[in-house]
Amino acid sequence: MRSYKVGIITIWAVAVCTLTAFLAAGVAGAGTLILAASAGVALACLAVIGVVLLQTAAALEAVCTSLESPDAPPPARRQRMLLNPLNQAMHRFLQLRTETQRKLRDHGSEVALRLQLLERQKKNAEAIIYSIRDSVLVTDACDRIVLANTAAETLFEFACTRDEARPLDQVIDHPEFVNLIRRSRQSRIPHVRHEITFGDARRLRTFDCILSCVEDEKNVPCGIVAVLHDVTREKEISQMKNDFVSHVSHELKTPLASINAYAEMLVDGEAGDAETMQRFCTIIQTQAQRLNRLIEDILNISRIESGLIKVAKAPCSLAILAQSAAEMIKSYAMEKNITVNTPAPIIHDQALGDKDMLTQVIINLLSNAVKYTPAGGTIDISLEVDDADRQVRLTVADTGVGIPPEDLPYVFDKFYRVEANKKQAKGTGLGLNLVKQIVETVHGGRVFVNSAPGQGSTFGFTLPLAAECVAQNV
Ligand code: ADP
Repeated sequence: MRSYKVGIITIWAVAVCTLTAFLAAGVAGAGTLILAASAGVALACLAVIGVVLLQTAAALEAVCTSLESPDAPPPARRQRMLLNPLNQAMHRFLQLRTETQRKLRDHGSEVALRLQLLERQKKNAEAIIYSIRDSVLVTDACDRIVLANTAAETLFEFACTRDEARPLDQVIDHPEFVNLIRRSRQSRIPHVRHEITFGDARRLRTFDCILSCVEDEKNVPCGIVAVLHDVTREKEISQMKNDFVSHVSHELKTPLASINAYAEMLVDGEAGDAETMQRFCTIIQTQAQRLNRLIEDILNISRIESGLIKVAKAPCSLAILAQSAAEMIKSYAMEKNITVNTPAPIIHDQALGDKDMLTQVIINLLSNAVKYTPAGGTIDISLEVDDADRQVRLTVADTGVGIPPEDLPYVFDKFYRVEANKKQAKGTGLGLNLVKQIVETVHGGRVFVNSAPGQGSTFGFTLPLAAECVAQNV
């Protein structure tokens, strides 16, 4: 009986050792918690089975001892005494086995569910990282790329293979950035911020780069997460703002200085006769008007840019607007003996727009045409309706001095004045920018220019046709 007991204990001990080894193997790999939990359940079940078997062995031992005693029961009773504990033990064993199988089955499906959940969470996290517009790059403790989202792959022009971690310096041809990542890992600073520039001279892009050092549970650096945010546009805007402020102050200073100087001369009685006094007053008036125009233009542009301007859009005929604009600048054109030809009214040339703003656009184009056309020239305003593209196109063509090709891309910029034409007329360099803002920002149209020195210029714009006009034409 003792050897029977020893045998049971040995089986149980072997099972316990096997499970402990299984548990230890699980600790080393992924899914530690799940394996540990499974092993724990199995271990507990085996413990219960072991206890039952030991109890049975003890009962059998007790029966044998009683059978060996002098006052042992008769053979029939002996048989029952021997079989009963065995029966009970077998019954309990079968019960426990069924119970254990059920528990293991339940646990198995729970483990499968948890694995599915983990897999889904991993995929979700990856999908989020891949869809971020900023570039995200993750490196390991040996500076190899373990993850790069789509934006990072596009920026650095490489494809990140998910099963093979490639060394950073082999993939990214930017020593400064590679060194930054290396230094961040070595210095173990949790977060560092750098401004870094990528690209070639044709297209330089500036990035706000945040490098975060990732440490494991033992505080050993195990990699770097780099997030690069493109700040090129923000930098350009800030530069434009600075340029704008310095331009505005410069442009305002010039007429103000002139007004101040002539006013001082008048106050000091330096205008000896009535004619000189008249001349000084005229200069002051002209400069004050220029100042006024400048301030008006600046305010209009900034109202449009900030979206604060009130726009009253309604279908309006561009031929009618061109007529009234031509009427307004007629006297100015006549001073230079310039002929202005207006388009014949055409049907269905209506654009959905703000009448006053569009009139301002045509006046600016016409007054430029007059300003930069020598005496005796001609200005033609023409209109075309393109039903297929649902557009109306207005052009102002002059026989003026024209614009050199290198200046053409910039004539719609704020404060841009063509050097070669400066002597032709005074200006602020804001008129065409206002035209562009009104046409493109407010009305969703396009401005254009064609010009060559000595061959005149053609400025114009296209606007979407008002919807009801298109409907009428169909
Ligand atoms: P400005 O107040 O100087 O006229 P604009 O913004 O209206 O400012 O025009 C910008 C520059 O474009 C002008 O300085 C001028 O050199 C050039 N320009 C505009 N229109 C014409 C034109 N019709 N012919 C020749 N040059 C023009």
